[in-house]
Amino acid sequence: MTITSRIRSICIIFIFLFSATIFAQAENKPKNIIFMIGDGMGIGHITAARIENGPLNLERFKIMGMHMTGSANDPVTDSAAAGTALATGYKTNNDMVGQTPDGVPLKNLMEYAREAGKSTGITVTSILPHATPAAFSAHHVARYHYDVITEEQALSGLDVMIGGGLSNYYPKSFSGSRRKDEKHVLNLLRQQMPVVLSIETLRKINAPDRLAAILSPGHLPEASKRDYTLGELSAKAIEILARNQKGFVLMVEGSQIDLAAHANDMPRITSEVIDFDSAVKTCLDFAEADGNTLVVVTADHETAGLTLPMKSIENNRVVKPAFSSDNHTALMVPIFAFGPGAEQFGGMQDIADVGRTMIELVK
Ligand SMILES: [Zn+2]
Repeated sequence: MTITSRIRSICIIFIFLFSATIFAQAENKPKNIIFMIGDGMGIGHITAARIENGPLNLERFKIMGMHMTGSANDPVTDSAAAGTALATGYKTNNDMVGQTPDGVPLKNLMEYAREAGKSTGITVTSILPHATPAAFSAHHVARYHYDVITEEQALSGLDVMIGGGLSNYYPKSFSGSRRKDEKHVLNLLRQQMPVVLSIETLRKINAPDRLAAILSPGHLPEASKRDYTLGELSAKAIEILARNQKGFVLMVEGSQIDLAAHANDMPRITSEVIDFDSAVKTCLDFAEADGNTLVVVTADHETAGLTLPMKSIENNRVVKPAFSSDNHTALMVPIFAFGPGAEQFGGMQDIADVGRTMIELVK
């Protein structure tokens, strides 16, 4: 063998190995992604639910990691900055959604998914324009500017929107409206897709290709006070989105774990985590049967510094939890992952890395 032919063979081997690596990476990209966020859900919240409920669907995951949740301007993040990091892969300041601290819009996971021809949806238990869903569908300097966010979200291209917040969609002059302007965003939304306003209609509807379900004037009723679970809502979202042969990306949020934790309300925290776990069951069952769906479950931050010290538990009930705060904390939160690409979520990382990895998997 001449030196030239030897070099040629080595080059061919390298090219083969390089293409094999690229091919393997492409192979490992999921068709569908379900991104599940327990707002404010730390280790204490999950532990309490595990003690009171018994085994959780969260235990079915074999790959786990942790992430540091701090925002660009504060080691203790809010849901706007944390949602932005998870949705875009970039940190921003507290209060800001979908843009950099300088106000430059950041492309989010759903926008990348639509470029890839996939359907996109959000299913939450808060009002639809709340911080986390806003980070996946809007770009704005202030998370509480719901008037602007509802409008941008309605036109964002989402195929499925399920949650609360009807009073943010009616003009100011309508009774019960929470808007400060006369825009009829419900009509605007109806021009984009069918809209249903009750769980009964949502259950009955022969699901079209796009659908919005706005099921209460404000946040959905808390988990213990409604006759449907986040699991049922997620199943409806998946039923619609899974028709797209190119796949889908769905964000599911257990939004009220955070509200319960701000109120230091232990029974409510437990019931909200269990409700969120019902959605984990729906999504994992789908992913296991489908074989080409990535499910990632995490939190945007921990709320309340919840711990369960000695003597806080009696007869499998958390009777004296210790709350170190009525607000968010800097504590790391867990990540659970299943499906193609899941191993990339193992280990300890930063919240923005979680978002960036997710975007790489959808591109
Ligand atoms: Zn909060």
